[in-house]
Amino acid sequence: MADHFQLRLVDSRMLAPTVRHLVFERVDGEPLAFVPGQFLQIHFAYDDGTATKRSYSVATVGDGSSPVRQIEIAVSYVEGGAATKLLGGLAHGGTVEASGPYGRFCLQAGDSHPRYLLLATGTGVTPYRAMLPRLAELLAAGEREVVLLYGARSEAELLYDDEFTAFAELHPGFTYLSCLSRQPRQAARAHDRVGHVQAALPELAPAAERDIAYLCGNPNMVDAAFGVLKELGLPVPQIRREKYISSR
Ligand SMILES: Cc1cc2nc3c(=O)[nH]c(=O)nc-3n(C[C@H](O)[C@H](O)[C@H](O)COP(=O)(O)OP(=O)(O)OC[C@H]3O[C@@H](n4cnc5c(N)ncnc54)[C@H](O)[C@@H]3O)c2cc1C
Repeated sequence: MADHFQLRLVDSRMLAPTVRHLVFERVDGEPLAFVPGQFLQIHFAYDDGTATKRSYSVATVGDGSSPVRQIEIAVSYVEGGAATKLLGGLAHGGTVEASGPYGRFCLQAGDSHPRYLLLATGTGVTPYRAMLPRLAELLAAGEREVVLLYGARSEAELLYDDEFTAFAELHPGFTYLSCLSRQPRQAARAHDRVGHVQAALPELAPAAERDIAYLCGNPNMVDAAFGVLKELGLPVPQIRREKYISSR
């Protein structure tokens, strides 16, 4: 059930020129029980005092079972954005109101299909970062193959690129395809693709008996990838979507 609490910023770093990784802890000292894939809402007010809120996926890599003390999110700056101003300018020690967790964009216990296709653009990759411990368990048990298709304009905008690269090296069942639409990596890699994430789908030959797809991030990408997957024959119940639309 969703809970309301205050968060204090304890750490932060820039992941890309306009994306800030923020690490919070609850002011009441309680941990956060969340299922990887869920999001929080940050509550604040516009300059005229009107209350508003914005959603952010939890990026924390927990130990796979217990609630977490550190609540991490990645905020992509939007020009003129109200939450961008709040979260982009928040100093360490500063607090915000929050509630959560919310959402069902999670790995489901009943899934039996042998392959996950995880698609993201931008900060849409954060739910998958949080899912890594569970994916590691599934991969270790030999129960799944996982393909992460992650789209960005350039290498500098591939968030947590080192972490996904290291995870892929450790887990042979995990393939990390980075899809760069504007500028290739300085040192090209075998798993790089040129263009948008949905353009890399046909080579994976999605199939109803094999795949479950997750799509997260930019609504245009989610719609485009959804269309491609349907055309390739993946049934709609096997395509799960989280669109990062503005919640104003
Ligand atoms: C379930 C869910 C999870 C989300 N998770 C994340 C997350 O993990 N990280 C994250 O950064 N965002 C996430 N978002 C989006 C986030 O909630 C905000 O919408 C986003 O941060 C913009 O808020 P803002 O107040 O800065 O901009 P706003 O004040 O809402 O918008 C300012 C202006 O920018 C436009 N705009 C809004 N969003 C975008 C955009 N993405 N691209 C271009 N123009 C835009 C608006 O139409 C408006 O004109 C998520 C959204 C949902 C629904």
